[in-house]
Amino acid sequence: MTSPEHTLPMIGHYINGQHIAGNGEQKADVFNPATGAVQAQVCFATESEVQQAIAAAAEAFPAWSATSPLKRARIMFTFRELLEKNSAALARAITLEHGKTLSDAHGEITRGLEVVEFACGMPHLLKGEFSDQVGTGIDTHSLRQPLGVVAGITPFNFPVMVPLWMIPMALATGNTFVLKPSERDPSASLMLADLLAQAGLPSGVFNVVQGDKLAVDTLLTDKRVQAISFVGSTPIAEYIYTTGTANGKRVQALGGAKNHLVVMPDADLDQVADALIGAGFGSAGERCMAITVAVAVGGVGEALVDKLANKARSIRVGQGLDENADMGPLVTPQHYAKVKSYVDCGVQEGAKLVVDGRDFKLPGFDNGFFIGPCLFDQVTPDMTIYKEEIFGPVLSVMHVSDFETALKLVNDHEYGNGTAIFTRDGGVAREFSRRVQAGMVGINVPIPVPIAFHSFGGWKRSLFGDHHIYGPEGVRFYTRIKTTTTRWPAGAPLAAEFVLPTMK
Ligand code: NAD
Repeated sequence: MTSPEHTLPMIGHYINGQHIAGNGEQKADVFNPATGAVQAQVCFATESEVQQAIAAAAEAFPAWSATSPLKRARIMFTFRELLEKNSAALARAITLEHGKTLSDAHGEITRGLEVVEFACGMPHLLKGEFSDQVGTGIDTHSLRQPLGVVAGITPFNFPVMVPLWMIPMALATGNTFVLKPSERDPSASLMLADLLAQAGLPSGVFNVVQGDKLAVDTLLTDKRVQAISFVGSTPIAEYIYTTGTANGKRVQALGGAKNHLVVMPDADLDQVADALIGAGFGSAGERCMAITVAVAVGGVGEALVDKLANKARSIRVGQGLDENADMGPLVTPQHYAKVKSYVDCGVQEGAKLVVDGRDFKLPGFDNGFFIGPCLFDQVTPDMTIYKEEIFGPVLSVMHVSDFETALKLVNDHEYGNGTAIFTRDGGVAREFSRRVQAGMVGINVPIPVPIAFHSFGGWKRSLFGDHHIYGPEGVRFYTRIKTTTTRWPAGAPLAAEFVLPTMK
C-alpha cells in the first residue's frame, strides 16, 4: 500500500508568507482513500517552527489590527472572488485526500464562502455604541477590539469549510492567525493560504503549521496566543478547553455528536426516509451534523425501516471523482477499521443489522477504504453503537411509544449538537424546539446547520466554552469590549472629588 518515501510529495507549512518544507522528523502518510495508496506525506512542525509561526503572527498584529476595517473587508471581498474562481481545484484537493464526492466538496466550499461573505460586512458588525450626556458634559462609548494572535485547530471532515468558520471572522475583526489543520487532509489549508496572499493579505497575518499533539500543545501553552478555536472529537475538545483556559486563553471547542431525528406518526414517511438517507449516509456519515439515530414514534418504525432499507441498498457508493457516486470511502484505513468494528459490536450487542455494508467492494478499487451503508434496527439506549459517535455510514433506528419518551431519549444523551423532528403538527414541533437540549434544531429539516449570519454550535458535551462559532457569536469571540467615558476639560470640576463618581 505504501510507496517508497522518496517519491512522495512532502506537505509542509506556511509561515510569514513563505511555504516552508519543515525540519520535523515526524511525518504522517496522506492517503487517497479511494485507491488506498499513500499519495503524499505531511511533515509535522517542531516546537520551534510553531513558535516561528506565532512570532510571525505576533509581529504582524500591530499593523493589521490598525488597518481600517474597510480595508480588511476589501481583502475578504477579493478572497471570496478567488475562492469561487479556484473552487474546482479546491474541491478536487478535498476529494483526493478526504474521499467525499466532488459535489459534496463543492457544497462545503460554498458553506465556507458564506462565512467570508458575512465577514465582508465587518465594518458594520464592529460598530460600537455611544451614549450622549451620561452625566453633565460626559459621554460614554464602547467598541470591540481584536484579541491578538489567535489559533485554529481543525478536523479532517471539512478541510475547507471548518477553517473558513474561523479564518475570515478572526482576520476581518483584526486578529492574526495560526491554523493547525488535520494531518489527514492537509493540502487545502495551504491553498487557502495562497488565495489569502493573492487577495492582498500581508505576510504573517495568516500562517499554517502541520502536525498533531506537539503542534497543538505549543499553541495551547504559548503566552502570545490569546484565543483558540477548536473543532474535532469530544475527548480532544475537552482537553483543548481545559488546557487552553488553564493557560489563560479564550477557548471555543466544538466536539462530537450523536444527532437524533424524531419521526412523529403524522410525518410523511417518504420525505422522512429521503431526509434520513441523505443526512445519515452523505459524506459516508463523516459529518458532525449527520443524523445517526432515527427515533420512530407511535408505531411508524416498521414501515420506516422498510423504506430506509430499500433506499440504503440503492445508494451508489463510488470514488469521489465519479460524478454518479452518492457516497465515497472513509478517510483512512484506521478509521475504516474503527467504523467496521462498531458495526460488529452492534451485531454482538443484539441490534438487528438490516443492511450490512461491511463487505462492500468497489470493482477496480480493491484497496480503497469503502464500506457500504449499514442500517440497524431495534437499537436500545444501553448499546455502544447508540452511546458513542461512530462517524461512518451507520444509521440506527429506535422505536418509542410517544413524544415525551422520544424527547427524553434525545435529552438524556451526552451529546447535544443538532437534532430534528419531522411532523405536520406545529404545536408538537414548537414544544420540541423549546424543550430539546441541543444547540441546533431542525423542523422538517434534517441537517439544520445555521447560515453564516447566525452561529453554529452544540450543547452539552458537543461544545466546551461560551461562544458558538462564526456569525455574531464569532464576532464576540474574536473581540473584546472596551468602554471609554469622556469629559472635555471645559466640563471638568474645579476641585478634587473624593467620593466614588456618580453622574450628575
Ligand atoms: P480529532 O479530534 O481526532 O482531531 C481534530 C484536531 O485535533 C486535528 O487537527 C488533530 O490533529 C488534533 N488532535 C488529535 N489528537 C490530538 C491530541 N491528542 N492532542 C491535541 N490535538 C489533537 O477529530 P477528527 O477525527 O479530525 O474529526 C472528527 C471529529 O470532529 C468528530 O468527532 C466530529 O463530530 C467532530 N466534528 C465536530 C464538529 C462540530 O462543529 N461540533 C464539526 C466537524 C467535526
